[in-house]
Amino acid sequence: MASLFSGALKLTDLDDFIGPSQDCIKPIKVDKRPGSSVAKIHIEDDGSYIQVSQDGGTRKLERAKISLNDCLACSGCITSAESVLITQQSHEELRKVLRANKEAVSSPQKLVVVSVSPQSVASLAARFQLNPTDTAKKLTSFFKKLGVHYVFDTAFSRNFSLIESQCEFLQRFRSQKDGGQSLPLLTSACPGWICYAEKTHGHVVLPHLSTARSPQQVMGALVKDFFAQQQHLPPDRLYHVTVMPCYDKKLEASRPDFFNQEFQTRDVDCVITTGEVFKLLEEEGVSFPDLEPAPLDVLSSYVSTEEHTSHQGGGSGGYLEHVFRHAARELFGIHVAEITYKPLRNKDFQEVTLERDGQVLLHFAAAYGFRNIQNLVQKLKRGRCPYHYVEVMACPSGCLNGGGQLRAPDAQGKELLQQVERLYASVRTQVPEEAPGVRELYEHWLQGPGSDKAGRLLHTQYRAVERASSGFSIKW
Ligand code: SF4
Repeated sequence: MASLFSGALKLTDLDDFIGPSQDCIKPIKVDKRPGSSVAKIHIEDDGSYIQVSQDGGTRKLERAKISLNDCLACSGCITSAESVLITQQSHEELRKVLRANKEAVSSPQKLVVVSVSPQSVASLAARFQLNPTDTAKKLTSFFKKLGVHYVFDTAFSRNFSLIESQCEFLQRFRSQKDGGQSLPLLTSACPGWICYAEKTHGHVVLPHLSTARSPQQVMGALVKDFFAQQQHLPPDRLYHVTVMPCYDKKLEASRPDFFNQEFQTRDVDCVITTGEVFKLLEEEGVSFPDLEPAPLDVLSSYVSTEEHTSHQGGGSGGYLEHVFRHAARELFGIHVAEITYKPLRNKDFQEVTLERDGQVLLHFAAAYGFRNIQNLVQKLKRGRCPYHYVEVMACPSGCLNGGGQLRAPDAQGKELLQQVERLYASVRTQVPEEAPGVRELYEHWLQGPGSDKAGRLLHTQYRAVERASSGFSIKW
């Protein structure tokens, strides 16, 4: 079965990728008991495992439970048993919560919130030959019919992700001279790329990663912190689902950094892909084009519009274009109207430069797909990366081509992607700083830009995953 995860997480024949002969999960702690070093394991008729030690003593072994949290995304199990790993986050889980709500005698057990990505909307729009605005409204109507209480657009949370990225870039660029944090700054909104960076080139790459949360995880903070307060509910009374273009986002949602220890709840409880939404539609026997449109919900009274919106700069969030324009204006007083990309080895590795009097002021790049990522990492390792900022995405062609998007029969794949790109580009774009509600939320919810609270709720951290070389290594 072809993997639905991004290329960076798939089993490949490239030499520097972790192969399936190494540990695929965090090593399990084994309590050593005296005299139990040599033991046999019997499998009983009921499938249970019994350990028989040398002295004849027996002990029933507990079943190991592996969750997404334990996954090192080594590629082996992701390709062969992804269906097991992702059962915690599937449309079936959403169904269970909705069913429990309907069966609840008095009020619903959970307030169910769905946040939809613009990439998923574009993919569904192409499949149903609708425009993205109508698609977003019909999707809202569908989820409401299922019992979902609120439907939001992650283009709203992306505003915060872009603003935090631009601030981080300016800060690093300015502190370069004083030997501050290193450039290039690398985007971190793609969990496929982050997973690869953490487990293979941690020490080289991690200092360069932007700490700004991805739109999905900013939405997690908005829903479980801001919106929960608005609803006078503790965060664990909300069940937050996101609709995303890839399976890798499930891994991102399950990172420990996005788990609230106090309330034992995740910022995003469940991620379903565009394909899973399509499956839901089929299972419910719903004719999508015939659904009555319903307006998207707004997160607060600060946000007056419920229109489906997007940002300039391509289907992966527009990080490069937004940071480039902002930096050109703030650092050099140059207004950039049009951005010209210069393709390098292929269309997925492109450069953008800002020049004045023949001098390069800003040098940005977009590196999509695993091979281009490898190329970039090699440059970093050799200390020969010429860029100030790189938008890195694991999928060739970026998020509109994510592994969770709707597929066409092979022959039409390229054509379908172009159609999805056209539809995505047709959506009205907005400038993050000017988006309705953003300024007010910075002020009232986050206690101002750059505050401790903004740092905690809009940023995250990364850590290198050490390759295990312990006796627990499993050789297949
Ligand atoms: Fe997901 Fe986008 Fe990264 Fe692909 S490029 S893995 S769709 S975040």
